[in-house]
Amino acid sequence: MKTLYFRIVVQTILIMVLASVIAFLLSNVYYHQVLKPYNGEKISKVAREIVSLYEENPNQDIDAYLNHVSGLHYQLYLINEQGKATSYGKPFHQTDLDGDTVSDVLNGKVYEGIETYNNGLFITGFFEDALENSIGVPLNVDGEKYALFVRPDIEKQFGEIRFFLAVLLVLMILLSFFFIIFNTRFLVKPITKLTEATKRIADGDYSGELNVTRGDEIGDLAKHFSKMTQSIQRLEDMRQEFVSNVSHEIQSPLASIQGFSQTLQSEELTKEKRKEYLSIIEKESRRMSAMSKQLLILASLDKGDDPLQRTSFDLAQQIRQVLFMLEWSWREKDMVIEMDLPSTMISADEKLLIQVWTNLITNSIKYSESGGSIIIRIKKIGRMVEVIIKDTGMGIADEELPHIFERFYKVDKMRNRSENGSGIGLSITKKTVELHGGTIAVQSELGEGSTFYVRLPLM
Ligand code: ADP
Repeated sequence: MKTLYFRIVVQTILIMVLASVIAFLLSNVYYHQVLKPYNGEKISKVAREIVSLYEENPNQDIDAYLNHVSGLHYQLYLINEQGKATSYGKPFHQTDLDGDTVSDVLNGKVYEGIETYNNGLFITGFFEDALENSIGVPLNVDGEKYALFVRPDIEKQFGEIRFFLAVLLVLMILLSFFFIIFNTRFLVKPITKLTEATKRIADGDYSGELNVTRGDEIGDLAKHFSKMTQSIQRLEDMRQEFVSNVSHEIQSPLASIQGFSQTLQSEELTKEKRKEYLSIIEKESRRMSAMSKQLLILASLDKGDDPLQRTSFDLAQQIRQVLFMLEWSWREKDMVIEMDLPSTMISADEKLLIQVWTNLITNSIKYSESGGSIIIRIKKIGRMVEVIIKDTGMGIADEELPHIFERFYKVDKMRNRSENGSGIGLSITKKTVELHGGTIAVQSELGEGSTFYVRLPLM
């Protein structure tokens, strides 16, 4: 497998090589255009200087003088009219030179070989140790014409610089390789960590910190990944809790149905007992059926892909209708209902909202003693409508209040058993209100009663 690590290393090295080649070509263009003419002119000046120094003092021995000059790291080549040539300093590697060039110089012309030397595309021509690649100047010695060719002895003049450049280049390449290999490892490491974490999550293990503290895109990715892991873990916990809650809620009515049906098989039961047990079985199965309906509603609300079926209707009328439906239960408990329900048009999902009022009013009845009272009010607040449902029931303790909207949360499990509760009603209520863009809040005092405030947007 070609790892990311391998790819980055190879690609970076290829980029470096390509960049070096392009940089070399471009700097050659610069050399040809700017440096070569400048260099030619400089050496041409030196050559003329050598001649004029000699001509200022023509009595000195020409061989001794040129030997001296070559000691300053110049290669010199002297040709007389007969074609006899003498080298001073390091001899030229290539001494081929056009006959016309020599006679031109003998006749007083200057040969600008460095500028005209055709050394191809590359700067390496600068180092070409050839007579053609030199400056030729005429020189007069005791009335005899000579041609003097001059070139710097590159090896001596730039020896250290060349060595320095070579060391620089090698070090640069080696260090670059080292840093690329090291840095790529640093770059790729968090990705490897992420991959390992993904594998762990796929195996169902959500533990383990990522420990990536970088502030770049990979750091961001790691942070988002950690957040995602946490929310998957929360979801997984919720799912497990949900399943265990549902099983538990189904288990207890089933156990009592089983128990009572077994007892019913015995012949010795009186007619009254038989009736009582059958009514318990009926009650428990009703409870299970109600709960499964609630679970179905919750699942469809959770899925959220069923958009609200909004219609315009009168909220007051809807609440009155709910009270009418529940009349039997509040009359049975001798409860007093106070209403202040001015007609209020609202655009909402009628079927879902009816569930909200049914849940809240049923709870107020369920958790109140006989003879209690319920006050229901509708109030407009700007573009919202507030429905207040207040009872004088048993109330909810402060520490329980934050939890009552959680799924399957029951304040008092024993008291609830007898009240047919499953702890899902308020979570459906809250979800429905929020889907409508509203809020639900509660105020309650133990022994005094509870007040639920539902706010919904009118349109
Ligand atoms: P349930 O189906 O058990 O009534 P809910 O979700 O409707 O479940 O309510 C959750 C818990 O909140 C209930 O178990 C109950 O103890 C408490 N509760 C809800 N409404 C009231 C109320 N009006 N007065 C007192 N307690 C309430």
